[in-house]
Amino acid sequence: MGWLDNRTALVTGGSRGIGAAIVRRLAGEGAHVVFSWRAAQGEADALVAEIADAGGRAVAVRADVSTPDGIATMFAACDAAFGGADKGARSLDILVNNAGVGSEGQDASLKAGSAELFDRMMAVNARGPYLVTQAALDRLRDGGRIINIGSISGKVAQPFAAGYAMSKRALQSLTFSTAVDVAKRGITCNLVAPGAVDTDFIAALRARKGFDENTARMTPMGRMGRPDDIAGAVMMLCRDEAGWVTGNVIEAAGGVAL
Ligand code: NDP
Repeated sequence: MGWLDNRTALVTGGSRGIGAAIVRRLAGEGAHVVFSWRAAQGEADALVAEIADAGGRAVAVRADVSTPDGIATMFAACDAAFGGADKGARSLDILVNNAGVGSEGQDASLKAGSAELFDRMMAVNARGPYLVTQAALDRLRDGGRIINIGSISGKVAQPFAAGYAMSKRALQSLTFSTAVDVAKRGITCNLVAPGAVDTDFIAALRARKGFDENTARMTPMGRMGRPDDIAGAVMMLCRDEAGWVTGNVIEAAGGVAL
């Protein structure tokens, strides 16, 4: 069916937005995909059905990546789907740490962001990928791929969203450490950094007058990103041809923040 036939993939936060686009693309190329969701059961079920209708294979699992229990549940679903329930039996080819949260309309500025909001963003965006990657190490086959979804926010100063930017910078650091850790096994680890992408994630920002127009104006390619733009960068890293590309931040942002 495709160039990912016989490969397996785990995508965190695959029910909506960028994660759903990544799941679609991976499954469309023949990968057997497990993806997690936290609240959007309807979207997750619909995506599984859509992929099955198209002849692909995907399994959705409810699992909060900010909790060790959620992560254990997610990997139990992977082991059930891909085989390799015994520790040491490797059955995973591609891990995409995509699940993430922003401020969801709350004040996340350096001046006024709350400790609770900071902790939530760090728990999902940084600690989650750290623990998920840790659990994936024994399951990943040699030659595999780890792809973290960061943000341009991890590169540029963002006093209005300092905690979110910090969480994405931490994910960048995890990317570098992981890349070196798994290098001898031929596994690559890279971070894809999107600019603004048209998903629910930025609904609160988009409600502000002029946000869409300003984003398009500030983006050299002249428009906001689409989920499939980011999925395309992930697919590029999954190709065999990208086997020597590791420890990089790949900006998928239409040239913004250059
Ligand atoms: P959405 O809000 O559209 O989707 C977020 C996804 O993550 C959903 O599938 C959601 O599941 C899941 N999720 C959230 N929290 C958890 C959790 N604790 N455990 C498991 N899954 C969870 O966001 P996007 O698709 O836009 O964002 C995806 C990634 O891209 C994030 O890491 C984000 O930081 C990053 N990003 C997004 C940008 C944008 O402009 N959209 C820009 C730069 C980076 P459910 O719906 O079931 O709760």
